Amino acid sequence: MKHNRIGMKIGIWIMSLFLIVFFFLGIAIDRIFTNFHQTEMKSKVNDMITHFVMMAASPENSIEHSLDAFADFSDVSIFFINNKGDVTAHSGDYDPSYHTFIHEQDIEKIFAGETVNFTHTDPNNNRYIVSGMVIPQSDHDGATDKALYVLASTQHMDESINRIRNLLILSGVGALLIALGGTWISAQILSRPLLEMQKATRKIAVGDLETRLSIKSGDEMGSLAEAINDLAKDLQRYRDTRQEFFANISHELRTPITYIEGYAKVVKEKLYTSEEEKDQYLDIIQEEAVRLNRLVNDLFELAKMEEGKISLSLEWIDLSEIVRNTVRKMEWRVKEKGLSMQAVYDDEIPLILGDGLRMEQILLNLLDNAIRYTDQGNITVSIHHNPNNVHLKIKDTGMGIAEEEIPFLFERFYRVEKSRSRKFGGTGLGLSITKKLVDLHGGDIQVSSELGVGTSFDICFPSPESKEDEYE
Ligand code: ADP
Repeated sequence: MKHNRIGMKIGIWIMSLFLIVFFFLGIAIDRIFTNFHQTEMKSKVNDMITHFVMMAASPENSIEHSLDAFADFSDVSIFFINNKGDVTAHSGDYDPSYHTFIHEQDIEKIFAGETVNFTHTDPNNNRYIVSGMVIPQSDHDGATDKALYVLASTQHMDESINRIRNLLILSGVGALLIALGGTWISAQILSRPLLEMQKATRKIAVGDLETRLSIKSGDEMGSLAEAINDLAKDLQRYRDTRQEFFANISHELRTPITYIEGYAKVVKEKLYTSEEEKDQYLDIIQEEAVRLNRLVNDLFELAKMEEGKISLSLEWIDLSEIVRNTVRKMEWRVKEKGLSMQAVYDDEIPLILGDGLRMEQILLNLLDNAIRYTDQGNITVSIHHNPNNVHLKIKDTGMGIAEEEIPFLFERFYRVEKSRSRKFGGTGLGLSITKKLVDLHGGDIQVSSELGVGTSFDICFPSPESKEDEYE
């Protein structure tokens, strides 16, 4: 039963609520019926006594003789009393020795003209509705000395109330059984998906990330199951990419280390034939050390960005000035490769909110790629603006990228051709860092390229005017 505790709890709650409601409802119904019957009977006895008193007060004064007939006929007991409370005549089945229903204070009230009405239980535990009234018959000095008591047994009323009570209890037990069954079924319906979800999350927790729930209901349970499925999918994707990421890192680190190790050994063991050859090997060692350094730096940057640990120091920056400075820095490499580079700007480029150093990093990455993957021709950096955006474009006439490779360019460690990047000294991380930096600036980066014709990276930053519109 342990595995179904939630169902038990729900069941106990519903049943407790049901019992409380049913208990109070039962008491209320019982009270209503009992009061209704008692009031009805009291009013009947009242009517009766009024009638008897009128008859007793009539001049013929024959009532005392026909008392028995009246009492029999009406199924009541009638008592005549005097103003001292003594019974002067009576009729009916009531044992005349049980005069306990006659109380002194009632006698006073009756002879003062009031009608008394109460419920009386005799020594045999029989209950009666008692009504007492004075007979307005005057003697010679105007004093009234006769009164009437009518006792009506509640036996029939009690029997009928008991019948109703039994019916109530019977229907209560029936309702209780139906409620028990209904509660058990609804507790099962409610708890089953919860138990399924519990099992699924336990499986996910121990690494079984293929686990999926098949709860399709459109309520909160359904959306919780959907959220668990999404979580499992995300974890699976995260695990896969993490494995891939570590595999890539170890591969990327191993390659330069193998080169450095191998050529260092060759130099150390003097396995070269000429000084020229030795210089070549040393160059390779240096190049690979530089690559290793770049790789470690890029990885560190990327890790910081992915953990959200990079914060921009935002200020109003002039993009054209940053482009001018970066282009100047890269000029020697452009010349060295025999390429040409120019920068084209619109007039009055608006300042944008950004981090100057990070913006330069974006430009350096893209220009570095453009130079690296262009053998001849031209590299153009241009800035244009419209009321909503500032556009930065870096275009080269290099080797280009095949269309099917373009969707994956911004992924970590993605290289168009593995050999191509090695040859050019890339790490495969530059573009994914660039994209993350552009995203952090609220911008968007797109690439268009044609094999053998060239590549163009277009970055679009929101301009201050468009931001002002947003705030209006
Ligand atoms: P890498 O450090 O290897 O250059 P990137 O992330 O910067 O890594 O670039 C990913 C791949 O995209 C590169 O391996 C290269 O093949 C291709 N690429 C990037 N920029 C250009 C470009 N301007 N022209 C041609 N190919 C490019």
